[in-house]
Amino acid sequence: MARSSRQLDPTVVVIFGASGDLAWRKLIPALYNLGLDRRLPEKVAIVGIARSAMADDAFRAHLREGVDRFSRRGKADPATWDTFAANVSYLSGEYGEAGVYERLAQRVAELEKAWGAAPDLLFYMSTPPTLVAPVAERLAAVRLTQDVERARVVVEKPFGRDLESALELNRALWRHLDERQIFRIDHFLGKETVQNILALRFANSLFEPVWNRRYIDHVQITVAEQVGIENRGGYYDKFGALRDMIQNHLVQVLCFVAMECPVSFDAQEIRSKKVDVLRALRPIPPERVPHYAVRGQYGAGWLRGEKLPAYRAEAGVPEGSNTETFAALKLYVDNWRWNGVPFYLRTGKRMPGRVSEVVVQFHEVPHQTFPPSASADLQPNRLVIRIQPNEGITLSLQAKEPGTVMRLRTVDMRFCYAEAFKTSQPEAYETLLADVFNDDATSFIHADQVEAAWRIVTPVLDYWEANPPTDFPNYPANSWGPEAATSLLARDERNWSVPLLRDDAGDD
Ligand code: NDP
Repeated sequence: MARSSRQLDPTVVVIFGASGDLAWRKLIPALYNLGLDRRLPEKVAIVGIARSAMADDAFRAHLREGVDRFSRRGKADPATWDTFAANVSYLSGEYGEAGVYERLAQRVAELEKAWGAAPDLLFYMSTPPTLVAPVAERLAAVRLTQDVERARVVVEKPFGRDLESALELNRALWRHLDERQIFRIDHFLGKETVQNILALRFANSLFEPVWNRRYIDHVQITVAEQVGIENRGGYYDKFGALRDMIQNHLVQVLCFVAMECPVSFDAQEIRSKKVDVLRALRPIPPERVPHYAVRGQYGAGWLRGEKLPAYRAEAGVPEGSNTETFAALKLYVDNWRWNGVPFYLRTGKRMPGRVSEVVVQFHEVPHQTFPPSASADLQPNRLVIRIQPNEGITLSLQAKEPGTVMRLRTVDMRFCYAEAFKTSQPEAYETLLADVFNDDATSFIHADQVEAAWRIVTPVLDYWEANPPTDFPNYPANSWGPEAATSLLARDERNWSVPLLRDDAGDD
């Protein structure tokens, strides 16, 4: 249960990598907005740590610019910002230098004295992934993480580069932390619409009876980005679409769609239901990878008269790179509910629009009552859960067209978040940071989920590495991906649903 400011214990939030992009664009705006919503503890201090030399005031001015530019509420109100910023400070130093941690421990001790209470400590690892384990080790050395009830560590993606490195990172963290203290963040899980999948499924009696193989033909999960790799070429080229998006975000969304009903809305319970799905995912046979997985890389293309560069021509991408910027997978959940129902997952960069959605496609009606003349355009029912943008749910139905003859047409029933609630939704990072303050791990990834998700994609990664692509680039920028992705579904006599696009400049 979320607690209000007054109920939350005094807390020190420490952001490692505080000079970076994530802190600037997401974390500080999220903390600022939590403050506006009275969801920050009354006694709170935010300490940024990074190598760049910066005075407290310069750090605050930099953060304010980030809030002005990226907060969902627009520019910061001067008085409110001043109150917030009074609790923000900066420590500069090398991440491996013991002195930094001693200074941090000193600052925590001073705050504890001033507040008259031992604070909760939230350590946010907003650094390159290689620094996560060393920073955890240093924190443990100055005993800042020893109180399992009070100290929490948030770890950003990527969590490993493959199964082995993920296992190694888990082992390294467990040397200094209890699993209960580790909050592996996947910002997709903080999105309102992803959380709403659970509400839709388990707070309505309407859907659950048909949420199974008897009524559902297949499920599609699409996360399309319109942007290319922006200035992340160096990072992206080492990861690619399968690791960067499918292994984490899309597989997590699949878990929400496929899981059994939890007994209660409790972190442990939801986690165990998600792990059941991950364990039920049918391993992809190594020799059959091309039948289950498709990769692509964008070439040059055009968008509104502007030439878009090919991936291989982007800054930071090595010449002749074979990294995939598009990936699609067909997965099966081998249990009673889902036996034989394919889950098609796809993600790509430089697609025609930015859209994330789940399409639940129901079977065709078992018997055709209406004459062919009435039902020429008949479509099976389809439930589209739009994660972003224009968050909402659309159920397509067949209806009689007005007129003297019987003619059926597909019509949509829509629930649109913005219209129904008329309040702006919190950013995913706001929701997830509020959960960390509340020590609520429901929307975070447990070690067993990370491992199970890596196991699913490992055969594909291995096959792709052993068999470099011969056709890259194989889709033009501003298209829905390579021909092979169409064939992946066409072989099963199905098509990808074409998402409804509306101009939207936001990022994910
Ligand atoms: P940055 O590359 O901006 O790095 C954050 C900070 O880490 C930098 O400001 C820098 O601070 C320090 N740093 C960078 N490289 C090194 C290095 N080689 N050695 C030591 N310190 C270094 O990362 P982001 O802020 O973009 O991301 C932080 C984490 O969050 C990453 O793990 C990333 O994968 C993850 N993430 C980021 C997202 C985003 O939107 N930016 C989205 C999802 C996840 P200084 O030099 O001052 O020490």
